[in-house]
Formats: sequence, C-alpha cells, structure tokens
Amino acid sequence: MTELTLVDARKAIRWFQKTMGLQDWKFRLWIQDEPPEWADPNSSSSFMGRSVTSVPWKSARIWVSPSRAVKENEDPLATLFHETLHTAFWDCGVGEGNSHSEHVEFLLNRLGTALLMAYQAENK
Ligand SMILES: [Zn+2]
Repeated sequence: MTELTLVDARKAIRWFQKTMGLQDWKFRLWIQDEPPEWADPNSSSSFMGRSVTSVPWKSARIWVSPSRAVKENEDPLATLFHETLHTAFWDCGVGEGNSHSEHVEFLLNRLGTALLMAYQAENK
C-alpha cells in the first residue's frame, strides 16, 4: 500500500484512460483528505472518494482521500480506479439511477482492485 500523491494519481489516470479508451475525457483530481465542496461534504464523512461525471462535456471530477482509504484497509489507488470506473460506466450509458446501487458499487470495487493489480504489474 502506497501513499497516494497527486503526481501518482495523474500517472495512474493516464494509464487508466489509455487502457479504458477514455483518452478524450478530461479528469480533474482532488487527492486530499478534506472533501472538496462539490463532493457534498455533509454526506461524505464515510466516503473514501467521490466522482462527478459530465457526459456531454466528457469531463469528470475525482476526489480520493488517501487516509480514509488506508483507514478502510484499501489502497488509495484502488479507490481512484473505483471512482474513475464510475465515469467509464457513464460513458457507456450506465449512469443515473443505478450507478450508485449496491451491486454496481460491489462490482466497481472488484474491478478497481483488478485494475490496480494490472497497473502495478505494468508499472513496477
Ligand atoms: Zn462508487
């Protein structure tokens, strides 16, 4: 488990975009423990991260709290991939209504971990 910096996160996002075919998307990153204003801080005390995706603008805001992830025994990079996968789902039309269902969250946790393993294997 590593401490996630903004530089690390940007590198991982570039890899993610290439791997997932999302090169024409713009990702803005918040790697900090304090939730950003757009992440609805009042309801996010238990969140490790949040994302907001705009399909028409092909842009997404991603927030990851490194220390909250570590506290939950999760690699912050897996949290980052989980949040960016939400964007990939939106891009495929799997968005509002079910993107935050328990089942999707479970699937994204698994996929996030799988992406983390692939990323680490390619970036030793
Ligand atoms: Zn999620």
